[in-house]
Amino acid sequence: MTLMRIRTLGDPVLRRPCRPVEAFDDALRRLAADMLETMYEAPGVGLAANQVGLSIACFVFDDRDGNSGFLANPTLSELDGRQLDSEGCLSIPGPYHDTERALDVRLRGQDEHGEPVDIRAEGFLARIFQHETDHLNGMMYIDRLDEAGRRDVMRQLRELELKRAQGG
Ligand code: ZN
Repeated sequence: MTLMRIRTLGDPVLRRPCRPVEAFDDALRRLAADMLETMYEAPGVGLAANQVGLSIACFVFDDRDGNSGFLANPTLSELDGRQLDSEGCLSIPGPYHDTERALDVRLRGQDEHGEPVDIRAEGFLARIFQHETDHLNGMMYIDRLDEAGRRDVMRQLRELELKRAQGG
């Protein structure tokens, strides 16, 4: 397996909507395995293909509560309720900020063999699905924050970069 380089804020690939996955072949299944490995190594609970530089609509996830896997061509529906909780992103490494999400979602897509997947999720898993589906549309969680929230994330990011630069 191969660890992939995770792209960070400012990389244009993160802002480009992904094209659908069409070929459910061995190359896609290798990519799914590599993305999972990269996500676990980071470590993170979700990783979208454009975060590793590939503009195709798929992501991997693991909510650390028994739900993990690969999803292609996801669509969300039946968004219901709301939850406010801390959220971060491997492409904005370090900062976290309270982010509002729907509490319940239904996610439909395909697995790595092209078989249909239909999952109803709530809470943390629903949050992951919304975060990763946003990525595939060229969106990031900071887009869901108000101006003060975005400023706070950028401040956290600058402080962490400063610390790293000082070797602290
Ligand atoms: Zn993210």
